[in-house]
Amino acid sequence: MKKIFYGRQYIDESDCEAVREVLLSDYLTCGPKIAELEQRLCDLTGTKYAVAIANGTAALHAVCFAMGIGDGDEVITTPITFAASANCVLYCGGKPVFADIEQDTYNISPESVEKLITPRTKAVIAVDFTGQACKYDELFDICKQYNLILIDDAAHSIGTKYNGKSIGNIADMTTFSFHPVKTVTGGEGGAILTNNKEYYNKMMLFRTHGITRNQTLMEYPSDDFWYYEQIELGYNYRLTDIQAALILSQLNKLEMFTTRRREIVDRYNKAFSDIPEIILQKEILQSDTVRHLYIIQLNYELLKCTRREFYDKLAEKGIMCNVHYIPVYYHPYYQQLGYKKGLCPVAEQVFEGFLSIPLYYSLTDEDVNRVISEIKNAVRRMV
Ligand SMILES: *Cc1c(COP(=O)(O)O)cnc(C)c1O
Repeated sequence: MKKIFYGRQYIDESDCEAVREVLLSDYLTCGPKIAELEQRLCDLTGTKYAVAIANGTAALHAVCFAMGIGDGDEVITTPITFAASANCVLYCGGKPVFADIEQDTYNISPESVEKLITPRTKAVIAVDFTGQACKYDELFDICKQYNLILIDDAAHSIGTKYNGKSIGNIADMTTFSFHPVKTVTGGEGGAILTNNKEYYNKMMLFRTHGITRNQTLMEYPSDDFWYYEQIELGYNYRLTDIQAALILSQLNKLEMFTTRRREIVDRYNKAFSDIPEIILQKEILQSDTVRHLYIIQLNYELLKCTRREFYDKLAEKGIMCNVHYIPVYYHPYYQQLGYKKGLCPVAEQVFEGFLSIPLYYSLTDEDVNRVISEIKNAVRRMV
């Protein structure tokens, strides 16, 4: 029996050829593919500046550096995300503050954000969970009113549009991840998009140790060809040209990926819409979503089983689901920092029913039918 996992990359011959070309070229890293990728991401999103970086986590770290997050600064984010969305604040000595999510969209609740603002609040990191855009009109209003920076962790939402505008060109800074489960992959990889030149310059320094060869930035300007200065404390967060070439080649397929993901989402929506035991994620009109994850929520008022029992029934049939995400502050590291369960009651309640079912480009119609009929079978056995 063929196992179907919740996500999987799709690599074709053109991807292999793109990587091969770089391998045989002069530059494996710091070469021409980096600027080419940055330009492509600007073109794709209509944004002025892009910084290619080692991964999505490094992208978030760079964003927190660019914002100048430091000791005691508070940054509001969602608990229903990968830990990196909050860890980046800790890296810089700041304090992640968790806002609750909306019951129906699962994205950060603007109302909850507003209630948590204090004089120490510097920024909001919104996450386009599963690929659906957050309520940016509301979030922007709040950020303007309280003078906060709005960040979009768009690890799930490359290709998505909000009110017709591309993700990447909405928030003050937007981060992408190119991990293999994401819609577009480089094996590893990340990027930040911004229209703000100051942030852009800071992040370019941060990516390479804080080192510059730009004389206008130097303390002791010199045109000696070997001379450079370290003017900030940065990291080695460079992306390789090998990865950049793979990401560029994958971006050529973004349309194709989008079309197929939408077909699968439509079929799931139709199949599950009249099954009250399964609650579906609500889609807001403003979001033209390229879905990264498809999440069903088990309705425990009607199902007489635990999530584990439901998961096991599907796993027996080769349908390998997953759970995204355990609320960040449930993790022992956060518990030990003093975060207590009960912080975000809506997130905690809906998370209990979450199950991510298979969604990726190369799922065949047959696979999709199998997933649908096994989920229907599991529901029938559990009522
Ligand atoms: C994947 C992911 C990240 C981290 O990206 P990496 O490239 O794996 O470092 C951050 N935030 C969210 C929401 C993610 O899904």
